[in-house]
Amino acid sequence: MANENGILIFGELNKDNTIKPVVKELVTKARSLKEKIWNQRIMVCIVGPRINYNNIVHELGRCGADEVVIVCDNRLTEYDSNYTPELFTQIAQKYPPRIILIGATTNGKEVASYTATKLETGLTADCTNLDIGENNLLLSTRPTFGGQLTADILCRTFPQMATVQENTFKIEETDHFVNAIFNWIDIDKIEKKIEIIKAKEKINHSRDLSTSKIIIAGGKGACKDNGFALIYQLAQKMNAAVGGSREAYEHGYITKSQQIGQTGKTVTPELYIAVGISGANQHLTSIKNSGKIIAINKDRNAPIFKQADIGIVGDLFEVLPNLIEKFDIVNKEENNE
Ligand SMILES: Cc1cc2nc3c(=O)[nH]c(=O)nc-3n(C[C@H](O)[C@H](O)[C@H](O)COP(=O)(O)OP(=O)(O)OC[C@H]3O[C@@H](n4cnc5c(N)ncnc54)[C@H](O)[C@@H]3O)c2cc1C
Repeated sequence: MANENGILIFGELNKDNTIKPVVKELVTKARSLKEKIWNQRIMVCIVGPRINYNNIVHELGRCGADEVVIVCDNRLTEYDSNYTPELFTQIAQKYPPRIILIGATTNGKEVASYTATKLETGLTADCTNLDIGENNLLLSTRPTFGGQLTADILCRTFPQMATVQENTFKIEETDHFVNAIFNWIDIDKIEKKIEIIKAKEKINHSRDLSTSKIIIAGGKGACKDNGFALIYQLAQKMNAAVGGSREAYEHGYITKSQQIGQTGKTVTPELYIAVGISGANQHLTSIKNSGKIIAINKDRNAPIFKQADIGIVGDLFEVLPNLIEKFDIVNKEENNE
């Protein structure tokens, strides 16, 4: 039986210093884990600049956090590979938790692997569910064998660590009292191992996948000629965000932040339009909570059609120009009214 107490969550901030929704998802999930194991507290650790954290603390409290530990320094204006993972690890050492949960974002993945290595414990990555199993151990569920199966994994070393993709759990609020703890750590004592010489923002021409009501995603079928240009054109007419499969990312048609699937993002739009995507399990698992799914594919046996509400069997290079033309006509009519 572990002496460690509590569930510690990495409180990742957005660039504008708001809290990432995945943190609130994890706090909500931690509440249901806490109910099953005796005497646990839910702690969120935020590493960030010196700002007023009142709103964030209350937001996290409303999701069920018992304590928010804040490590702040004016040099931490944004995520820093030199300091953020180390400072989070130091908090995990100071308040040894039983369980550590981290959002599987780009930065979260770095924090998780760094912390697991430093604490010499296991890490189950990209989980799709979390529960409490035998001997009150964390039971993490994740896809395996290329997404053909799901595996339930019991971690027997402490702390038990897991990362979870964004949009996996619902955020639910409750009435709850929360404590803020400010922790000062001298960051000058941390050895700087990485020097960033130049940072260049990757240009992403798409709207945000997590907030858009409509997503049009392209797959390998669209990775030729003007396939993605047509997708962007339609997206503009429909106020939609553009995403894609791993194939589309690997062929350079989308950025990593636009990749949807097991190793990309989980999305929950009201409407998901899959264009030239076959419907591999690793893709389907991350779109299953979409409101409606429309699939455009020239192969009538493509697995995507099993999950789609509406299937269009056809060549995307004919279907998309037709749809774009229809939107042009509708828009013209609306403007003339
Ligand atoms: C561990 C692991 C993690 C993975 N993570 C992800 C992930 O995060 N996201 C992800 O997407 N995949 C992921 N994959 C890869 C996944 O298994 C598939 O290989 C991938 O999703 C296939 O992408 P696709 O559908 O674009 O391409 P394909 O499977 O090649 O399908 C292309 C489709 O386009 C159709 N098509 C071709 N031309 C046209 C046309 N002119 N008009 C209409 N339709 C056309 C074809 O009929 C076909 O169905 C992962 C795999 C593994 C093993």
